[in-house]
Amino acid sequence: MKRKNAWDTYDENDVKELEKINNEYKSCLDAGKTERECVTEAVRRAKAAGYRELNKVIKDGEKINPGTRLYSTWMEKSIVLFQIGEEPMENGMNILGAHIDSPRIDLKQMPLYEDQEFAYFDTHYYGGIKKYQWVAIPLAIHGVVVRTDGSKTEIVIGEKEDDPVFVISDLLVHLSKDQMDKKMGEAISGEKLDLLIANRPLTGEGKERVKDSVLKLLKETYDIVEEDFLSAELEIVPSGKARDCGFDRSMIMGYGQDDRVCAFTSLFAILEMEQVKRTACCILVDKEEIGSVGATGMQSKFFENAVAELISGINGAGQYSELTLRRTLANSKMLSSDVSAAYDPMYSEVFEKKNSAYFANGIVFNKYTGSRGKSGSNDANAEYVADIRRIMEDNKVVFQTAELGKVDAGGGGTIAYILASQGMNVIDSGVAVLSMHAPWEVTSKADIYEAVKCYRAFLKDA
Ligand code: MN
Ligand code: MN
Repeated sequence: MKRKNAWDTYDENDVKELEKINNEYKSCLDAGKTERECVTEAVRRAKAAGYRELNKVIKDGEKINPGTRLYSTWMEKSIVLFQIGEEPMENGMNILGAHIDSPRIDLKQMPLYEDQEFAYFDTHYYGGIKKYQWVAIPLAIHGVVVRTDGSKTEIVIGEKEDDPVFVISDLLVHLSKDQMDKKMGEAISGEKLDLLIANRPLTGEGKERVKDSVLKLLKETYDIVEEDFLSAELEIVPSGKARDCGFDRSMIMGYGQDDRVCAFTSLFAILEMEQVKRTACCILVDKEEIGSVGATGMQSKFFENAVAELISGINGAGQYSELTLRRTLANSKMLSSDVSAAYDPMYSEVFEKKNSAYFANGIVFNKYTGSRGKSGSNDANAEYVADIRRIMEDNKVVFQTAELGKVDAGGGGTIAYILASQGMNVIDSGVAVLSMHAPWEVTSKADIYEAVKCYRAFLKDA
């Protein structure tokens, strides 16, 4: 089969729209470096597009009609959006899903300590990272600190031009003989990923004067005491903005594109939907990188609960039927979007050329994912794949199909199987990424544009 390069299909107007979408996308990446920040950004954009909070609409007894736009968040880390369609809910919804958590380094609950007049934050990394990629680069701290009185302080340090940044030190090459002999996975241990945060002691007496000076600064600037770290979620992420990449500016380099490249493009598509036949839905979910667990992960009931609330809202005065919920979910169709491994000529040995995802070859569909014999995969139904092909062809979306590397090279999972367990048709889709899970990941602007086109087409025609 012949590969198609999306750039070859564009006229001047396409390129203009492509740039507009990619600029929006970059600003979303800058605004959303944690799952909480992504939810905040999604709510801000949803409200601007006329979306209202589901539970409030129900509580106020407002009518929910075709065209009504609703959103529901869970613990400020996951969000579901609905645009009500003309058809009844039990005919099913067209669902876009993607995750908004990304690999990073979290603070431990008791993070602050001093060693030889350096102050550090002790850390525990989140998701699959190559630890050597996170040392000796500028880092920022994003997150929240919650006090016992319930008050909450949001923290972002290391992003503004005149902000300080933080760093995890690396061993100088001159003394690295033993380290360099180690396997890459063992050269830097998890406990060596502590964040260097200060070096100047507080004036006066004391045993740990650098730590004391950090505590003084935290108290003065954020009204935080050491115990408040116990109830904090502080995430260490690369400092800096998403940027165009390449002489031709055809690519984007940015942190957290797994999976925000699918999340924000899905969000763009649903927010701009005009009247839809089937109810349009978009799920942006937390915790995929650690197995979709927890109250805000896809395995949680928060999504099902939101759909149940919606059904009771549509039926009026708490009229809810379990059977309607079951039918709604089973008759739904879903694009479960997560990034694909882009073919990398530097590492061609792990890819099988016919079934790899290529930059600028459009949105990627994976009939199956999983590892070692499709294990853990949602294997999309052939009939459904044919349906998706038809929708893409009708709407002139450039697409490709792929699987994650060579058969025995490794593998990975997504949220697809979780929604598929409701009986609905689900297919894995997404955007190809180079250097996936690295502090700075690379994507193709053409693929981002095709993703938005794909999601629009799916919400309209599936
Ligand atoms: Mn992912
Ligand atoms: Mn991932």
